[in-house]
Amino acid sequence: MSKIPAHIIDEIMQTSRIEEVIGEFVNLKRAGSNLKGLSPFTDEKTPSFVVSPAKQIFKCFSTSKGGSVVTFLMEKEHFTYPEALRWLADKYNIQIPEDEPATAEQMAAITERESLYIINEFAKNYFSQNLMESDEGKAVALSYFEERGFRKDIIQKFQLGYCINAGDDFTKAALKKGYKLEYLEKVGLVKTKEERSFDFFRGRVMFPIHSVSGRVLGFGGRTLFTDKKIAKYFNSPESIIYNKSEILYGLHFSKGDIIKYDNCFLCEGYTDVISMYQAGIQNVVSSSGTSLTKDQIKLIRRYTQNITILYDGDPAGIKASFRGIDLILEEGMNVKVVLFPEGEDPDSYSKKASTSELEAYIQAHTQDFISFKAAILLKDGESDPIKKAELIREIVHSVALIPDQITRTVYLQQIASQFDIQESIISNELMKLRKNVVSKQLQEPELAQIPVPMQTGNQPVEIAETLENNAENSEYDLIRLLIKYGTRVIEVDQLNELSETNKAETSVTEFICHELDKDELAFEHPKFAKIHQLIVEGLAENQLLSSTYFRQLEDQTIVQFVSEIESQEYELSSKWLSQYNISTRSESDRLQEAVFHSIYNFKSSKIEAHIRSIQERLKLAGDMSDEELLDALSEQMTYEKIKIAFAEKLGRIILR
Ligand code: ATP
Ligand code: MN
Repeated sequence: MSKIPAHIIDEIMQTSRIEEVIGEFVNLKRAGSNLKGLSPFTDEKTPSFVVSPAKQIFKCFSTSKGGSVVTFLMEKEHFTYPEALRWLADKYNIQIPEDEPATAEQMAAITERESLYIINEFAKNYFSQNLMESDEGKAVALSYFEERGFRKDIIQKFQLGYCINAGDDFTKAALKKGYKLEYLEKVGLVKTKEERSFDFFRGRVMFPIHSVSGRVLGFGGRTLFTDKKIAKYFNSPESIIYNKSEILYGLHFSKGDIIKYDNCFLCEGYTDVISMYQAGIQNVVSSSGTSLTKDQIKLIRRYTQNITILYDGDPAGIKASFRGIDLILEEGMNVKVVLFPEGEDPDSYSKKASTSELEAYIQAHTQDFISFKAAILLKDGESDPIKKAELIREIVHSVALIPDQITRTVYLQQIASQFDIQESIISNELMKLRKNVVSKQLQEPELAQIPVPMQTGNQPVEIAETLENNAENSEYDLIRLLIKYGTRVIEVDQLNELSETNKAETSVTEFICHELDKDELAFEHPKFAKIHQLIVEGLAENQLLSSTYFRQLEDQTIVQFVSEIESQEYELSSKWLSQYNISTRSESDRLQEAVFHSIYNFKSSKIEAHIRSIQERLKLAGDMSDEELLDALSEQMTYEKIKIAFAEKLGRIILR
């Protein structure tokens, strides 16, 4: 792929709004001037993920990830740097010039993961073209969708397609394009038997399965034949990009409405999602190809705490909903159920009914899980006391799965009043069952770990905490000022040829770089050294690099570091304040002092390092000649003098 020109990267970064992008993945709520939500990188239940619209950065306190909008996409979607930029360009309609598709040669260099994404993207477009443009596609597939009542705009939105029924039509096209057979097989689009390769999905209408951000991870394919011996649906096999249990069909399209309505409708398959969506109920997903999993529920939890299961009224559907209910409760979420009339699923029902009728049906038939279970299990045994006892136990069993005690108690009261039983009796049963649940969970290794206390609040940046060494601390502080205030102006004394001092204004960057250059000092920490080098190069071209510049770099360790620094609300450390008796104006107010102190500290820590090494040498004085000894001693004295000179120059600094 061609390189993205710098001015386009600029434009992409300027246009992108981090809060909009992350808002597609995380349910963000206002918290002061920031936005807060549940970390998309962990399972946390208390929000510790912060986005700053003003600074255009994010910070995840439970994983300590942080950075720009690009860092986020790279972390979350496993994008490469250019991919993240392309994704943003696409979202914000920014044209990237000479954006040529990858050739076979370039493909080889791209990672396997990327290859699989590219192949799926190609397949999606190919199948879609078959559906819309080929004679066979129009005749059998498009007409099939139309018969099902799918509107054209919906077909396009969900990127439905068709795989020509000719054995290896797709395989040939993909090989011709230069895609490796090995990868075509890995994504499951091509099968090879006895040296012959053919299309796995031939003769099927295709449902692309998208990631949250809209990449095609796999496909579902429905046969157009009515032959009962042919499996109605085929699904892509699992691959490094497609993990069924962690994906929900439709989520890419529905996440906005799930957040908006604070509820997620969960149904069985592709056609249910599409029909509901077409009918205007767009906060809908399905767990197609698997029964509902824990990971899928956690995925929903990023957007809402509330799930409404929509299932067909057949016994299999009911059984599936029971399993689903328990899983959702176990995750501490709220679950409701809508049962469709026997023989109907959301797809078929939405076809018969108007949108308002569908909405009305859902509203009228939404039940909490207790009433739902009771209604189903009580159907034929209403008057049978044994059956009733079993039923209550069954419901209490579900309640026992709920992690939150208050919620459990509320349900317990509901059961007691609904079945007219004393609360204490149910409470005993509940306690017994809850103990079982907890001890079972403890046996599962992933849950047996002691929870790590959440790190929240205004946290000083890790690096400042871990670098105990004074030298590293002083390097950190100086680079921090360069990044945070580099473009700001301070007043300094300037000596002219006549040794008169004048007041002059200069940028923090120029001043610091000049000071370091003058004494031939450099950063030792490799990351800081790289940042310093970039700044010096910028100065050579008369440019003052700001944090905005650093946040656009490809090197994400720098982006993350710069964001860390920017996300700090805390000002100059209190140690400094007390040590130097400085009044607590904000750091930027006393920028000049802060810069002076920082340079002094930087220099004196370098000097101290020299002095320490001389002292080490003196300890081994036995091996030294007198001359060497004297040299070392005078060297030490020189350094001590330099140190004092630094201090004097900065005037107000009190030496330790
Ligand atoms: P019909 O036209 O006969 O109703 P359908 O395509 O609507 O067929 P159903 O059998 O009604 O399919 O199943 C409902 C949903 O369940 C479909 O939307 C489909 O996504 C999903 N589904 C059914 N079988 C599978 C399967 N083997 N793998 C993945 N999803 C499936
Ligand atoms: Mn159906």
